[in-house]
Amino acid sequence: MRAVRFYGRRDVRMDQVEDLGSPKPGWVRLKVDACGICGTDLEGYVNGPDDREYAGKGILTLGHEGAGTVVETGEGVSLAIGQRVAVEGHLFCRECFYCLRGDYALCVRLKSLGQGADGGLAEEMLAPEYMCLPYADSLEPHHAALAEPTSVAVRAVRRGRLAAGETVVVVGGGTIGLLLLQIVRLRGAARVVVVEPVASRRELALRLGADQAVAPDDAQATLDELTSGVGADVAFEAGGSPAAAKAAVELVRKGGRTVLLGVTGGSLELPLLRFLLTEKEVIASLSHTYDVDFPEALRLLESGQVVAEPLITDRIGLDQVVSHGFEALLAEPAAHLKVLVVP
Ligand SMILES: [Zn+2]
Ligand SMILES: [Zn+2]
Repeated sequence: MRAVRFYGRRDVRMDQVEDLGSPKPGWVRLKVDACGICGTDLEGYVNGPDDREYAGKGILTLGHEGAGTVVETGEGVSLAIGQRVAVEGHLFCRECFYCLRGDYALCVRLKSLGQGADGGLAEEMLAPEYMCLPYADSLEPHHAALAEPTSVAVRAVRRGRLAAGETVVVVGGGTIGLLLLQIVRLRGAARVVVVEPVASRRELALRLGADQAVAPDDAQATLDELTSGVGADVAFEAGGSPAAAKAAVELVRKGGRTVLLGVTGGSLELPLLRFLLTEKEVIASLSHTYDVDFPEALRLLESGQVVAEPLITDRIGLDQVVSHGFEALLAEPAAHLKVLVVP
């Protein structure tokens, strides 16, 4: 079968690889219906290890935003052949301090499909049953592939303890930002401002329910006007840059919460006295859990309360992952939101 594999920085290849064979007990083999490329994949493409093999980590099939159809089940699996599922992606130990608390994303032995283990940018993939969630026929498989990024947004909203009636600012109007926007609206945010440099994304944010969508330079003035100078109750940083994180912290009111969820290098400087005097909270939110965030995300897509189609800008084949995926995202980041790979 064909698989898109990561060899090292800027070295991703579509290979002909051996068929996966039968799944082990508790696992299934899936035909991949669609798998998204996300900012984390791009970050790995640009800044990942120089040479995975040299680093002792082996060549890896990419893809952690998958949806597929069950083609073979291992022993003890109750999913049926032909069932369509969305794939959550985290492999965790169930034994460590964090797993026992249900904080699976913090597992000390955490691996993810497409990141620490072979993922879904292939014709077929293997996955444990627990991370494969069936969904209703009414949901298109391409949209089910957005369950993973949607669950990232679901978790962030939970981590931010959003209450009905609050004013929210979302910094970054990419796929995650536009999912966050839809979810905070559903959770009763009174006012939502999206901060995004790209005009076409601002227009999309308005269509998806933002009260205002503004360029970064206009964010402070807009928030000041909207809140009589107080600031937002909650900010979500979905821009994936230190500048977005800084803006998010600055746009919340005293005592407000900033949720950081964009994957980025760099650091956030906090002037300690000002931080203390404002009692602001900065909260990190990492990916999702298979038992809480992921099912909630899939149900939001299934019910149509969160829409995926406007976020999908490209559908490409496995052989186009580098040319029409990574390189296109680098050359023209503003022209793409979710790039879906359809094997
Ligand atoms: Zn992702
Ligand atoms: Zn663990």
